[in-house]
Amino acid sequence: MPEPASSVSREGYSEEAIREILGPQGASAPVLIIAAHMDDEAIGAGGLLKYLKNFSVLNVTDGAARNMRAARARGYATREGYALARRAELREVLSMTPSQPMDLTTLDVADLDAPFNLPGITMSVKEAIARRAPAIVITHPYEGGHPDHDSAAFAVSAALCLMRAEGKSVPKHLEFTSYHGDGGKIVTSRFLNPGPDEARIELSKEERAFKEALFSCYRTQKGALRGFPIGSERFRKAPQYDFCRPPHEGRLFYQYFDWGLPGRAWCALAARAAREIGIGDGRFETDYLEFFNPRAAYRYLRYLRTRTAFF
Ligand SMILES: [Zn+2]
Repeated sequence: MPEPASSVSREGYSEEAIREILGPQGASAPVLIIAAHMDDEAIGAGGLLKYLKNFSVLNVTDGAARNMRAARARGYATREGYALARRAELREVLSMTPSQPMDLTTLDVADLDAPFNLPGITMSVKEAIARRAPAIVITHPYEGGHPDHDSAAFAVSAALCLMRAEGKSVPKHLEFTSYHGDGGKIVTSRFLNPGPDEARIELSKEERAFKEALFSCYRTQKGALRGFPIGSERFRKAPQYDFCRPPHEGRLFYQYFDWGLPGRAWCALAARAAREIGIGDGRFETDYLEFFNPRAAYRYLRYLRTRTAFF
């Protein structure tokens, strides 16, 4: 896809570029990074982490799925052991940033479980925003790359929506890039629908080396991270999403994998969560149960009764 003509592109993170992304406080602005998994912060904003002076990180999941596939493949006998290893890797990454995070929170949600816990995650995100009072929240875009990424996008949008309804002031809501699909091929380092308001930074040699060093801490994710080039980072103001609709036509990237969600069931879960937390303002009315096959529908209904993830 061609670059939008007015997209700002800069060589390296100059002070001016950082102010352009984060606002007048620049690198001193209090930032809360809300990422689905340990490593998403490095993928989306590894270069920027070299400069942030006042930031916190909230992980929506503990990075270990109940199905144990990734854990076993990496030699871990328990889900908890794998989650601990991933958290240790994140700590190692953050020990390399010139400023240490003010706060590091991991929600008690397994990898791939986020779509089934949207109301709880939204409330935790809202609490974290109230506690840290960031000027800026940076999270994933809604792109159908990974169900947990889309869940983080939902939770941040929903939390800010609730705060606005309560008359509270809300932080600036930005997005970093994650990944999405194009006919089953992974697309990284760019947004699904690029727009003119993106800030694009071509990392300098030192910034690339820094980001590479962060990546190398994620030993359990070595294979996956190989697919992420580290040449550039992009940020933009989060658009207003309709989470009741899939982010794009056709098969979403995660539908090519057995990542726990039957088809476009994510939208059904988002619609239900929006109603449950009281932000069903008409944009969340559609239920997408028709995307479930009978077996998945049975498991989903059982999930609603027991509130335990069903895969
Ligand atoms: Zn992720």
